[in-house]
Amino acid sequence: MKLILFGPPGAGKGTQAKLLIEKLKLPHISTGDILRSEVKNNTGLGKQAKGFMDAGKLVPDALVTEMVRKRMQEPDLKNGFILDGYPRTEAQAKALDDILKGGIDKAIYLSTSERVVVQRLTGRRVCPKCGTNYHLTNMPPKKDMLCDKCQVGLFQRPDDNEATVKNRLSVYLKECSAVLDFYKKQGKLEDVSGDLDSGEVFKIISEKILAL
Ligand code: ADP
Ligand code: ADP
Ligand code: ZN
Repeated sequence: MKLILFGPPGAGKGTQAKLLIEKLKLPHISTGDILRSEVKNNTGLGKQAKGFMDAGKLVPDALVTEMVRKRMQEPDLKNGFILDGYPRTEAQAKALDDILKGGIDKAIYLSTSERVVVQRLTGRRVCPKCGTNYHLTNMPPKKDMLCDKCQVGLFQRPDDNEATVKNRLSVYLKECSAVLDFYKKQGKLEDVSGDLDSGEVFKIISEKILAL
């Protein structure tokens, strides 16, 4: 199954992807995670991407698409994947169809209000080891700011500050309707409210949309 999770920053794409991979046993591909690791390792791609990411802007389509094209060639994806954070523009959606030949199976859209998004992003904390997302009040870890699984200290992403969050939201709003229309026309768009609590969102995705 080839699934896409789409929605504004903070909608809960990463959180739902982590829940879905346990159930579906499919690899999770997050373009944001791959880009952050390229930046951390100071690779050529990382150096090119960093400025855009720090400003809350999109990394140019050509760079991200090349990265996705390479990832899609790896053998672990033969039964499908859960893709989170890509495509973000119509050009990326077209490029993905081109890479995959038969296209994707479903694009799950987590429609989420701006108020919720800002609250979630400013309170988000991330495990540097396994990438699990926590939240200061919505989903705190069991022990003081340590990942439940890895027992290492959580950190705040540098782009989760208020100014960059606003920028990311406006970038998202500018591009999102074209991506939604693209999948709506293909009859592959599934709409879920991302404002609901994560258990409810997961239940709707797994029972209503995927019939698992
Ligand atoms: P969030 O879901 O919180 O917005 P991501 O982790 O998906 O964050 O992405 C973080 C940053 O990485 C984005 O703000 C953007 O700069 C870059 N990025 C990730 N995916 C893409 C993409 N498909 N196209 C362009 N830039 C991307
Ligand atoms: P995205 O990948 O779409 O940017 P995340 O999955 O990282 O979003 O979620 C953003 C923040 O909101 C995280 O701190 C996460 O713990 C929290 N969160 C995710 N889903 C929900 C939800 N349904 N209700 C409340 N908080 C949530
Ligand atoms: Zn962890």
